[in-house]
Amino acid sequence: MANPLLEKFSTPFSTAPFSKIKNKHFKPAFIKAIKIAKEEINNIINNKTVPNFENTIEALEFSGQKLDRISSIFFNLNSAETTDEIQQIAQEISPLLTEFSNDITLNKKLFKRVQLVYDIIDELNLTPEQETLLTNKYKDFVRNGANLNESDKLKLRKIDSKLSKLKLKFGENILAETTNFELHITEENSLKGLPESTVEAAQMVAKQKKKDGWVFTLDYPSYIPFMTYADDRALRKKMAIAFGAKSFQNNKYNNQQIVLDLVKSRHKRANILGYESHSHFILEERMAESPANVLRFLDDLLVKAKPAAIEEFQSLSNFAKKDGVNKLEKWDSAYYSEKLKKELFDLEEEQLKPYFKLENVIDGVFTVSNKLFNLKFEEITTIDKYHDDVKTYKVTDTSDNYIAVLYTDFFPRKGKRNGAWMTSFKGQWKKDKENSRPHISIVCNFTKPTETKPSLLTFNEVTTLFHEFGHALHGMLANTVYPSLSGTNVFWDFVELPSQLLENWCYEKEALNLFAKHYESGKLIPMDFIEKIKKSSNFLEGMQTLRQLSFGILDISWHGKNPSKIKSVKEFELSTFKNTQLFPDVKNNCMSTSFSHIFQGGYSSGYYSYKWAEVLDADAFALFLENGIFNKEISQKFKETILTKGGTKKPMDLYINFRGKKPNNNALLKRAGLLK
Ligand SMILES: [Zn+2]
Repeated sequence: MANPLLEKFSTPFSTAPFSKIKNKHFKPAFIKAIKIAKEEINNIINNKTVPNFENTIEALEFSGQKLDRISSIFFNLNSAETTDEIQQIAQEISPLLTEFSNDITLNKKLFKRVQLVYDIIDELNLTPEQETLLTNKYKDFVRNGANLNESDKLKLRKIDSKLSKLKLKFGENILAETTNFELHITEENSLKGLPESTVEAAQMVAKQKKKDGWVFTLDYPSYIPFMTYADDRALRKKMAIAFGAKSFQNNKYNNQQIVLDLVKSRHKRANILGYESHSHFILEERMAESPANVLRFLDDLLVKAKPAAIEEFQSLSNFAKKDGVNKLEKWDSAYYSEKLKKELFDLEEEQLKPYFKLENVIDGVFTVSNKLFNLKFEEITTIDKYHDDVKTYKVTDTSDNYIAVLYTDFFPRKGKRNGAWMTSFKGQWKKDKENSRPHISIVCNFTKPTETKPSLLTFNEVTTLFHEFGHALHGMLANTVYPSLSGTNVFWDFVELPSQLLENWCYEKEALNLFAKHYESGKLIPMDFIEKIKKSSNFLEGMQTLRQLSFGILDISWHGKNPSKIKSVKEFELSTFKNTQLFPDVKNNCMSTSFSHIFQGGYSSGYYSYKWAEVLDADAFALFLENGIFNKEISQKFKETILTKGGTKKPMDLYINFRGKKPNNNALLKRAGLLK
């Protein structure tokens, strides 16, 4: 029986043939594609010719392409249009994929060949892109322990399995602590200040738990509005303390020992691989390069942001004093910030939304891309899609050269995960004299239009669309030889540059005038609205910056040095916070024991990258501001030096090629209003 996933796609632009693909096709297609990929790897290993760049590195790079294609289709569907059946298939497939990838990275014969080529890298006359590819391939093995003796290899595997258990337990404990707490309210008086929707949701939770009244939990959709709007200070305190005490209480869900075990195991792992610390290991593959660079970066921002933060804290304290609060505590922060913001900028979301009809914003981002990068977007209805809400476009340049296929999928529905993201159904590469162009997709969850009302976006949704479109440009304009170096395949702390850069156009009059028109009257958005958007986006920026910096410093402090002498999680944490604390410390609270980003997710030694990316985009946009936001010379340069180049060179080199110098923090501080 024919399996459409395994045949050559005879669709327009060879796009994924969604109308023919049934769920039953996936598993056999995966199994077959893994088999093909294994044969390709075996052909490399069994090649009798002396290993060279072509027969080993390039062959490895272009192996498993069928598998990649099937994986991207399947896992994109699992995010945007999943079902119980698809999730079941994912469960069955994932171990097969892990096993296959281990088969490659732990394959001694394959590594031997890669190493032989790497050893003569200087004699090979490679292009810079080829050199990067060879170095990456070699490092993939080495960073996974390929150079170690057998006993160290065994140690490494043991630590890896210990780490994955610790991470799992860390997350389970937080989840248990989150579910075990509830704030049960039976007096309507205690709900004062809360928005109706929050109260309704709390009532629903109570009903589910077969209780009277209202129940609030430590889940964000319940916790955040409670802390922002509840007038009852004692209850806010109760919630905040419960939130901060997660996995730091005297019970079996305590994460203190797990934190210590995690950082010590990570350190040991890094040492075995020959690195000074876990951060040294991680940052080798980042633009920031070393923990010292990260700390210097964070400290520089700290020095500049702190005076502003102290001033803001003072004015927030004074504001709260009028309400009878003598000493501002953590549980007052969100509440009085919101009140003060409202007093300073009386701009309601509802006033802005009519200017951001979804269709107009899409036109806007297309027009901006046209003015900057000469791109044209034509809707093509003959391309197969996985859902009726999806729209498909052929993307060309102004000389009608085919650039990419773009999918957009904007509305929430059952089976689609929350949030917004850019992804691809097919990457870009050059092979056999052909430049094989990418198929890029943007997935969001915006309000769906009704029969009487179009989809009107909040300003936050507008910047989200521009953000994801920035990633999409990085994917669509990719122009490299090797797929693993193409588009958004770049270092983690570099990947947000195109996306965050594009957000800047949402704040500029010249760009907004292209599309921000009232959906009924057609009138352009008033200038004072734009001013208010800009000003309110910098509200309490000093305090927020300080908070982000404190997390980044905590992360690098845990992972950048030998942790063997650390005894108390709380004491260690406090010592790293000493320059960033504005609020009084809460004795029985701890950040680290529930800091999932760095102890459960993949952000260890990477928390700084949020600020790092902001510095990059502000510094890059400053060049546009100096020369005009639609200056063709600058935008062409950005395209040629960054968007088309993917990960073919070190990101700092790419950036310097664009900007003429390394980024510095001033543009961000200026944009954030922190530079006096
Ligand atoms: Zn992003």
